[in-house]
Amino acid sequence: MIIDLRSDTVTKPTKEMLEAMFNAEVGDDVFAEEPTVIALEQKSAKLFGKEAALFCPSGTMTNQIAIKVHTNPGDEVLCDATAHIYNYEGGGIAFNSGVQAKLIQGERGRISAQQILESMNPTFDWLTKTSLVCIENTANRAGGSYYSLQQMNELSEVCKKNKLNYHLDGARIFNAIVEAGYSASEVGACFDSVSICMSKGLGAPVGSLLLGESEFIRKARRVRKVFGGGMRQAGYLAAAGIYALDNNILRLKDDHQRAKQLAKTMSSLSYIDNVLPVDTNIIIFNLNEKMNPEAFVQKLADNDIKAVGFGKQAIRFVTHLDFTDEMLEKTESVLKGI
Ligand SMILES: *Cc1c(COP(=O)(O)O)cnc(C)c1O
Repeated sequence: MIIDLRSDTVTKPTKEMLEAMFNAEVGDDVFAEEPTVIALEQKSAKLFGKEAALFCPSGTMTNQIAIKVHTNPGDEVLCDATAHIYNYEGGGIAFNSGVQAKLIQGERGRISAQQILESMNPTFDWLTKTSLVCIENTANRAGGSYYSLQQMNELSEVCKKNKLNYHLDGARIFNAIVEAGYSASEVGACFDSVSICMSKGLGAPVGSLLLGESEFIRKARRVRKVFGGGMRQAGYLAAAGIYALDNNILRLKDDHQRAKQLAKTMSSLSYIDNVLPVDTNIIIFNLNEKMNPEAFVQKLADNDIKAVGFGKQAIRFVTHLDFTDEMLEKTESVLKGI
């Protein structure tokens, strides 16, 4: 039994999901005649109360397309300093869109309306034009914290008042939805565009969707082609997404429960200095100075547990669809034995 806690992207499709994929009706999506892709796009747009959606190979691509459509070269995007769009997309903000990021020190990855007001530039010719605010919910690097609906709405108000576009990197938005208790359509109503992911907690092998109004998605579709993301018989992948939306959202609560239990056990271990608060399915913890992080990861590997370092003394564990109660027990016992 291999236990993989590196990411919630490591899940493999179940037999039922594979069957849905196998049975998919397909066509050519570049000609806009892929029935299963169209079905997934319509389903997800409806879920979030948006007019349209665009199926893409990755969450990096949906974010990067959104940034491209919402900005002009030389503009700036406001985001938290830990944001995925800034840290983990290969410098794509500059590479793809020619825009720069102004980083905000949020509270556990969450930025406030007040911080937007303080960070955005007035419209003088010599100042960088602030055109986009991007938030992440849940916030990965910050340990899976989530925004309240009120916080997302407050940011929305400020963006509307100041004519800033407002994008959600919702790679783990379903984790926030099941934990915070707001609905997908309440989330969708806050934003100009939303990126959602099928291949993390929801367990599909590939795919993210960008959601927005029809005109925005029309432009996004063109950019997707330019970025090389126009796929053909992608319905096999979209079928997995449809299956995931139908079956794998509510069960995310189990992942959160297991993460919380694991964190509780870990906080009493002598070689762990501290465990960050666990709100959803991500556990970030710091080893004390006596425990070398590489040695720690190796000890886990010797017990068939995969994990990765997350900077200095920090390690990140992520729970997911393929992490069972049996694996939880074994992980706890291995950790206690180190
Ligand atoms: C994983 C992730 C992405 C990008 O997803 P890929 O499909 O791996 O490109 C974007 N944002 C956040 C917060 C993520 O965790």
